Amino acid sequence: MAKPVLAIVGRPNVGKSTIFNRIVGERVSIVEDKPGVTRDRIYSSADWLNHEFHIIDTGGIEINDEPLMAQMRYQAELAIDEADVICFIVNGREGITAADEEVAQILFRSKKPIVLGVNKMDDPSMHHRLYEFYSLGIGEPFPISGSHGIGLGDFLDEAAKHFPIDEGDIYDEDTIRISLIGRPNVGKSSLVNALLGEERVIVSDIPGTTRDAIDTPFTKDDQDYVVIDTAGMRKKGKVYESTEKYSVLRSLRAIERSDVVLMVLNAEEGIIEQDKKIAGYAHEAGRAVVIVVNKWDAIEKDDKTMQEFEQKIRDHFLFLDYAPIVFLSAKTKRRIQNLLPEVNEVSENHNMRVQTHVLNDIIVDAVTMNPTPTDHGGRRLRISYGTQVAVAPPTFVLFVNDPELLHFSYRRYLENKIRATFNFKGTPIRILARKKN
Ligand code: GDP
Ligand code: GDP
Repeated sequence: MAKPVLAIVGRPNVGKSTIFNRIVGERVSIVEDKPGVTRDRIYSSADWLNHEFHIIDTGGIEINDEPLMAQMRYQAELAIDEADVICFIVNGREGITAADEEVAQILFRSKKPIVLGVNKMDDPSMHHRLYEFYSLGIGEPFPISGSHGIGLGDFLDEAAKHFPIDEGDIYDEDTIRISLIGRPNVGKSSLVNALLGEERVIVSDIPGTTRDAIDTPFTKDDQDYVVIDTAGMRKKGKVYESTEKYSVLRSLRAIERSDVVLMVLNAEEGIIEQDKKIAGYAHEAGRAVVIVVNKWDAIEKDDKTMQEFEQKIRDHFLFLDYAPIVFLSAKTKRRIQNLLPEVNEVSENHNMRVQTHVLNDIIVDAVTMNPTPTDHGGRRLRISYGTQVAVAPPTFVLFVNDPELLHFSYRRYLENKIRATFNFKGTPIRILARKKN
């Protein structure tokens, strides 16, 4: 399901990132101790009352060496292209500047809903300064204070009024939604073409119908799939599209819309930090993952090359130890036929349900072999029982005496025991602890 997207636009120093952080809050990830996973705070999911949405701080996406006004224009264009609602932030203490006026013009022409936030209104005595902002011509100015957290409620209420009505997912529940992520030029488009060119693949001629996405539905052996559009696969030639952060942002959105993520690497190049960052997001988002090493035709190989490359991947993507790796060539189509069977398998595992009694047998055995940890005061973790509460990804809740006592290493141990019994290849699994009443 595509969540609405809200973008924050405004000059430097008006308080965009302060507001972003306020709205996002300290979202505690349910997946702990993720090595190598750091996230730029330009994109996050958030919720307000009953609304879940994505939020982008366009100020975090800078185009090198461009003057302020050009930067602002790119950020405004990006917001127009990516967002459902634009939050335009100005500084109430400084009044309207020429840059504010120019941005207002650009936004206004787009016909996207705009909500105007007048920031740094830290106390009501300043509210008389609001009136001048009516002259921007984009409607009612909302007084807010990002640093004090004032007025954001009314501001978000107004933004939420413009969220598109959720029409539900346009794809059938059984359709496997695939996204391809990876740097430019690793061969994502070639890979999609190779997949679609496979024997018995029937490409549906229904064009992508979601918001701005260009999705490609196809069918093979009675299984429906859809390739979710990703940055780099669609080259529109906007200036901001060449920035790394923008391509990360597009990837994050594609990941969120998919069931199975193909993390595409280039055999000729190896792995860089950005690959890890995006892969880390796929893991955190709980998607099934297949690592694809493309351009396998282009490198010199001996009988150890594949093993060595695999080891390199494992070293870099510690948190993706469950993801299978497929070596192939989109160009020569060698081994391309291995990809969809792998996708099917990880998708099945992603949706697997295990029986409660089997799960509890595993837990009892695991605890017998390796007793639960104690804290400094000698209190021992006691697991009463466990149960699976969700699929995609499989999520288990353990009812325990004190959730704090379930440490990372013991959780990891239990995860390995569960994985040793069930085929969870390709899918993250989550283990949560709840206090037993
Ligand atoms: P950005 O460049 O638009 O992302 O702005 P920042 O969020 O980095 O904020 C710029 C400066 O304004 C920082 O020093 C903030 O602490 C300050 N600031 C942000 N919001 C408020 C506010 O509501 N009131 C006041 N007085 N200062 C604020
Ligand atoms: P994208 O930016 O990730 O979508 O990458 P493209 O699909 O546009 O491919 C980038 C370049 O790599 C193109 O010149 C392709 O012809 C080339 N390429 C893609 N796949 C392969 C492959 O398997 N082997 C070789 N040797 N080149 C490939």
